[in-house]
Amino acid sequence: MDQYVVFGNPVGHSKSPAIHRLFAEQTGEQLEYSTLLAPLEDFANCALGFFKQGRGANVTVPFKEDAFRLCDQLTDRARRAGAVNMLTRLDNGGLRGDNTDGLGLVRDLTVNVGVSLKGKRILLLGAGGAVRGVIESLLEQEPASLIIANRTVEKAEQLAQIFAELGPVASSGFDWLEESVDIIINATSASLAGELPPIAASLIEPGVTVCYDMMYGKEPTPFCRWASEHGAKLSVDGFGMLVEQAAVAFTYWRGVEVDTAPVLKALRAEMAG
Ligand code: NDP
Repeated sequence: MDQYVVFGNPVGHSKSPAIHRLFAEQTGEQLEYSTLLAPLEDFANCALGFFKQGRGANVTVPFKEDAFRLCDQLTDRARRAGAVNMLTRLDNGGLRGDNTDGLGLVRDLTVNVGVSLKGKRILLLGAGGAVRGVIESLLEQEPASLIIANRTVEKAEQLAQIFAELGPVASSGFDWLEESVDIIINATSASLAGELPPIAASLIEPGVTVCYDMMYGKEPTPFCRWASEHGAKLSVDGFGMLVEQAAVAFTYWRGVEVDTAPVLKALRAEMAG
């Protein structure tokens, strides 16, 4: 049977196997999808070992940049992002790298959550691998502005430069920001430590600003709680993004479309229980 994995460290908590199992059930595809804990210092050997047999893989924290370096072929968006979240074995044995985080985020925001990004002022918090992967897709939606704010400001500046030719993107430190925006996307890993990025509550215009945390969990994340407390119109976690980026990968690997809505619903119910 065709084999797929998600590489990460840690990776035991990953919902990707459950998502792909439900996609496989829905479409009648025969495949195996499991987690693979890669050693922090030796992602390359671990990945190359898997791909002697394996057909495809997703890549999560902290290996997206290692995966990028391992590829023989890259999509344009993965090359620009400098990070890969999806690997596919080519017929000649080489590896193709793509980055589908941006498609997943935009599809979740625009289709599942129902928020148009066109003409909006968007604030993106963080400048790590996840941010690299979503800037291009966000700019394709033609926002009025996209500000990347990060604790280490130089990293945000660097990303704003890389993507400047694609649209109105700028950089900032957290404490320079005061004026409200339409959409705030938290792509820092602060929530993992139960923390909040230090941003002013005045960034939220009550009843208007939509807040989105790429983190997700059984309980609302600290960022989602903060957003709700300050009157955000919506505060949404990133589970839909995970399911949507998985759908892009599944369709590419198997050549069949999937319906993400029942999968999202079933797994949300499972998580809540
Ligand atoms: P990285 O480790 O590459 O980047 C982490 C970022 O968070 C950096 O910008 C870092 O700032 C910032 N940061 C860390 N701690 C704090 C803090 N206490 N306060 C403020 N900023 C902080 O991680 P990724 O970009 O790969 O992932 C970011 C988050 O997005 C993770 O929670 C991950 O789980 C989630 N994610 C979710 C996806 C989904 O499908 N839902 C997909 C991809 C990611 P600095 O540069 O200053 O160190």
